[in-house]
This record gives sequence, structure tokens and C-alpha cells, in this order.
Amino acid sequence: MTTEYAVSGAVAVLTLNNPPVNGLGLATRQAFADALARALADASVKAIVVTGAGNAFSGGADIKEFGSPKALQEPNLLSLILALEAATKPVVAAIHTVCMGGGTELALGCHYRIAAPGCKVALPEVKLGLLPGAGGTQRLPRALGVEPALNMIVSGEPVNSELLAQVPGQKLFHKMASSAQTLLAEAVAFALEVADVRPLPLVRNLPARHPMGDAYFQFARNMVGGMAKNYPAPLKCVDAVEAATKRKFDDGLRFERDTFINLMWTPESRALRHLFVAERATSKIPDVPADTAQRVIKSVAVIGAGTMGGGISMNFLNAGIPVTMLEMKQDALDRGIATMRKNYEAQVKKGKLKQDKYEQRMALLTTTLSYDDLKDADLVIEAVFEDIGVKQAVFKELDRVMKPGAILASNTSTLDVNKIAHFTQRPQDVVGMHFFSPANVMKLLEVVRGAATAKDVLATVMALAKKIKKTAVVSGVCDGFIGNRMIEQYGRQAGFLLDEGCTPAQVDKAVEKFGFAMGPFRMGDLAGNDIGWAIRKRRYVEKPHMKYSKTADLLCEQGRFGQKTGAGWYDYVAGKRDAIPNADVVKMIEAHRQSLGITPRKVSDEEIVQRLVFSLVNEAAHILEEGIANKASDVDVVYIFGYGFPVYRGGPLNYANEVGLFNVVQAMQRFAQNPLDDATFWQPAPLLARLADEGKTFA
Ligand code: NAD
Repeated sequence: MTTEYAVSGAVAVLTLNNPPVNGLGLATRQAFADALARALADASVKAIVVTGAGNAFSGGADIKEFGSPKALQEPNLLSLILALEAATKPVVAAIHTVCMGGGTELALGCHYRIAAPGCKVALPEVKLGLLPGAGGTQRLPRALGVEPALNMIVSGEPVNSELLAQVPGQKLFHKMASSAQTLLAEAVAFALEVADVRPLPLVRNLPARHPMGDAYFQFARNMVGGMAKNYPAPLKCVDAVEAATKRKFDDGLRFERDTFINLMWTPESRALRHLFVAERATSKIPDVPADTAQRVIKSVAVIGAGTMGGGISMNFLNAGIPVTMLEMKQDALDRGIATMRKNYEAQVKKGKLKQDKYEQRMALLTTTLSYDDLKDADLVIEAVFEDIGVKQAVFKELDRVMKPGAILASNTSTLDVNKIAHFTQRPQDVVGMHFFSPANVMKLLEVVRGAATAKDVLATVMALAKKIKKTAVVSGVCDGFIGNRMIEQYGRQAGFLLDEGCTPAQVDKAVEKFGFAMGPFRMGDLAGNDIGWAIRKRRYVEKPHMKYSKTADLLCEQGRFGQKTGAGWYDYVAGKRDAIPNADVVKMIEAHRQSLGITPRKVSDEEIVQRLVFSLVNEAAHILEEGIANKASDVDVVYIFGYGFPVYRGGPLNYANEVGLFNVVQAMQRFAQNPLDDATFWQPAPLLARLADEGKTFA
């Protein structure tokens, strides 16, 4: 039963009950419509209370139904709300905990609303590239006032019920309950009080006006337009709220509906909805059921207090989990701690962290030079030099001291986690936890599953990732895992583009216009060009047939490693991150091009973007086929959260789906004809070729 029906005296109580947040999917809507009809037909019922079971009034529409016929199937949300408005007995919404989207719209269709304190109320549809499509843009301005309503609709952010109740002249809440515990009893008592009051109040009959009228909407458009950039929905929210002030209610409702449907078909909304589902799906691992037992993680040890060790430790301190950090020498520990303090102090300075919180966090940190001090930790994360010999020494020590059942993790970016696991007698306890730099900031965590990694280890690490606010994606073992393996191909293409006639700035600009946070050369300068150089040197030995542009090596030979040396593909002024093009670097590229006998050609921005993005797509298809990634949406999450891929394009594979896999394959075949490119690489991965042939997508 997804809506419970109970009668208390002369009041029928309809309780939405569809865990976890009483989402308004079809079955729930049907049950709700039946319960409403039953209450209206029952002569002993004089008034109706609508509420939600558990920890929500309602979290709103069922997002999985979006874009499917189910969302429109009767009773859809619009007709349910119309049925509430048409009810001949007063309906009181008893709102608590979470009231979002369709839940808020449902409540606005009721005659009265009582809210518990501490309830989060929102119309968050804009975050999915939409606007509220069941009357929210027409009713909220009438109930709350135009300006606060527009703020809520455009931001999508929740507002606390007590704050909303303080908005002057608001008619959103008729009453605040004294507590969440007494909400239902107070709502029933209120329903009895108003049982005989007629006419029944409807939000649709309230006026929606702004004293400054057109001027206000002009301001709003200027503000929202500036911030919305690549997203069409926020400005459409302004249009819809303006319609509430200018049109008759039903006309406004139609305008909202049409706009909602148009937005539903935009690639931006599709991308945002894809990511919403994708992010929640990363923890679903085919052979690791959700109820897999987990190990208890109460304390963590980190080996290495360098760039990564410090950032990794901060994540756990922030979550209230004690950390012991180990180094070989005291001065390395001191340096690591100084960097952590500097990071925290910057947050305190910006007002993002209170001084006492900062101290509480640092108080959870202990340091040591002795492995014996780590033996009781539930999880240890190794972040020492990227050298297999060093890793071996560390894991042998960990195997010696760590208590049975402790999880042994490596933050390696490139080394073989299976090999590392077998440095111990307990490979089932070993897993990769590949954080991204800066580890205290970047959301992505690749959890690398070794051949022997136990399922409960995987389940524990995935759950722990949530606790430290990371988005974790499982990757199998391969060179570079999901993200870096793909970026290597992207980097190779960027190099070829220089050889063929581009400048770094031209490539970066094209990619940034596409929406990447940073183009490949600015990214190289940020990460350190020496890292790619080291990888290439290895490749020249391991894979001598693989083709690379030599320009990046020439750059590194000049010591231009990037921001850390003040010079890379660009120049940098100390303390600033602005990339200043350098004429000598351009000359170096030209000279190299000449030495290869290449006549430069003008490469279009479109070609630049396609070659870079489709190289990611082709490598991802191999990765999927090999089972390194569990699903296409995991790859998209990696690229959005770890590599600055534009959110509104939904990740490389979602983007490829949008372009059409047939078109992607056609482009690859064109690129394969280019003698300066790598024809072998551009052979579409078998999975991609098959999907394109069958007219399918990665979804
Ligand atoms: P780093 O050089 O900044 O720090 C490594 C630290 O480990 C140093 O402080 C060193 O003193 C310490 N160390 C070395 N051997 C040790 C040992 N035997 N016992 C204890 N401490 C020891 O390196 P980093 O950038 O922090 O990288 C650490 C690991 O993280 C590497 O495996 C690297 O591939 C990986 N990683 C780095 C990045 C990045 O962007 N820097 C990103 C992801 C993963």
C-alpha cells in the first residue's frame, strides 16, 4: 500500500507511504487518488489530512518516470492536484521533514497547510534542468509572494519552514505545528476547526503581484541570465513566475506545462537527469548486493604525508574519524602537517570553517614514525612515492603489523593493485582508493577492485566514501584505471593537434568553449607536465609502436613542468593561476613541426573538440567491454567529478549518445584517414561499433 487510509473521528488521514521519501510514482498516485475518493465518499468524514510516513512528507516526483509515459499516466500529478482543489471537504496538508518538488506542489493544491518546524521545503526541479511542472510556478508566488517564490524556484534550494512562516503576508502555511511529534494531532484538530468553513480556500484564487512589476522581472532576468550560462531552465523559471503575475491562473498553468515539456527535451535537462541517476547508481555493483556486510571503520591510518597523504587525511578528520599519519622522517611529517594547517586556515579565513571546528579536526590527528602505532587502525591508506619497490616495502610492513580484518588500501595512480595485494598474505583485504588532487577538494574517488578484493571490503569502502562526501566509482585493475587511461588518449590527441597546426591556446579555448573547466594544456600545467612525461617514457619502452607527439617532451626538457615551476605550456605569475601564452613555446612547436616536414593547416574548433572528446569515448568503450567499468554511467561520473567535463553535457558517453553513435563512428573513420593521427586507435572499439550498427546507445 503506498497511501494509507485511516479515520480519526470525523477526519480521514491519508498518509503517503512509499519509502524512502514518499516519491509520487504512478502506484502511489493511484493509491492516493483512491484514498481521496474514499474519504470524500465517506459520510462520516468531515475533513481530510494529507501527510507522509517516515522521514518525509514527500520528496516529489519519481525521477525514474521522467520522460517516460508513466509520468503522464493518469492520475498524473496535475490531475491529482486538481482533484484536491475540487474536493468538497477541506483538505489539510501536514508537512514535515522533507517537502520537495511534486510534494510541495501537492501541498499547494490542498486547502490548508500546517508545517512542522525544521521542515525543508523546496522546488528543486531547476537542478534537473526543468521547472516545477505541476503548478508550482503559478501557486508558490501566490502563496508566498512573487520574490521569495522566484528565489526558491530559480535556486532550487530548500528553505526551512520556520523561515518561510516569517515571510510577511505569506499564505503558504496557515499554522506552524509546535513540533514534528505533535504535527499530526494538531493537523487533525485544525481540520476539525475548519470542517464547516466555506468557501474552501484555494491558492489559485490568491493574487500574484510584484510592486515593481516589469522592472523586477528585468532585474531578475539580468541576474539569472548571468548565472545560468549554459542552462536554459533558470530563465524559463523567471518567465513562468512572470506569467503567474500577468496571466489568468489556468493560462499560466498551461504556459508552465508547455515550458516544462520543452525543457524536458533539452539536452541539458537530459544530461542533468542522467547524472542524477548515474551518481546514485555508482554504488550498485552487480555481484555485491546492497545488503553485503560491512567492516567497521572507526579509525584510519595514512602512510605518507605528501601532496596526497595530507589531503586524504583531511577528508577523514572532516568526517570526525581519527587519523594516524606515518612518515619516514619527522621533517616530512612536519611539512605535511604545516600544509594541512595552511589549507584549514585558508578555510577559516574565508569564513568557511569555524576556528573551534578546525581545532577539533586537528585534534583527531596523530603522527608517528613507527608502524607499530598503526596496528589498531581499521583502514590504512598508502600514499607514498609511486614506485613499486617502495610500495612493496610498505605493504610488507602493513601485513606484519595490521590487525586481522583491517583494510589495506593504496592510492596508486598507475601501479598494479593485484601485484600490490600479493605483497601481503591477505590480498582479499587490499583495495585501491584512488583519490584525485587536491584530495580534500576533489569529489571523485576511484575504488580499484583487485582480483582478490573481498566483497565486504568493496562494500565498506563504497559506504565510507559517502561518509567522507566522495563520489566513488568502482574500477577494475588496468593501467590508469578508468579516468587516467582515458585521459592518456585525450592527451595524445592534444599533442597531434599541435603537430598539425594548432597552438596550445587554440586547443584549450575550443575545449573550454565546449564547456570543459580547463583545456588539456592548462590542465597539464596544473597537474605537472612531468607526470605525463614519466608515463610516456615508460610507454616508449612498453609500447614502442604507440604514436606520440614529441612536443610535450621538448617542453619538459626545458624544465617547463607547469604552474609549480612558473612555466609550462604557458607562463604564470607567482600566486596567480592565469595562463599567459608564451611566444617561445609556440616557436618551439613550429620548429618541431617544421623538422617533421609538416605544413600546418587550420584545424576547426569542431574538429579539435571531436577528436579530444571522441578519443575519450572510444577508450571508454574498450574499458566497458573489458569490464573495467561496470556501466557507462560510471564513466560519465568519473569525468564529471574528476576531470571537469561539462556537467550540462552529462559526461563523455552521454554526450556520445546525444550526438548519435553512428555519427561518432563516422567521425572516427574520418580521423583514421589523417596520416598525422593514429589510425589504429581510431578503429571504433567493438562495443561502440556494435552499438552504432544496431542504432543503440551506451545507455
Ligand atoms: P609526494 O611525493 O607528494 O608524497 C609522498 C610522501 O610519501 C612523501 O612525503 C614521502 O616522504 C613519503 N614516503 C615515501 N616513502 C615512504 C615510506 N616508505 N614510508 C612512509 N612514507 C614514505 O607524492 P604524492 O603526490 O602525494 O603521491 C603519493 C601517491 O599518490 C602516489 O602513489 C601517486 O601516484 C598517488 N597519486 C598522486 C596524485 C597527485 O596528483 N599527486 C593523484 C592521485 C594519486
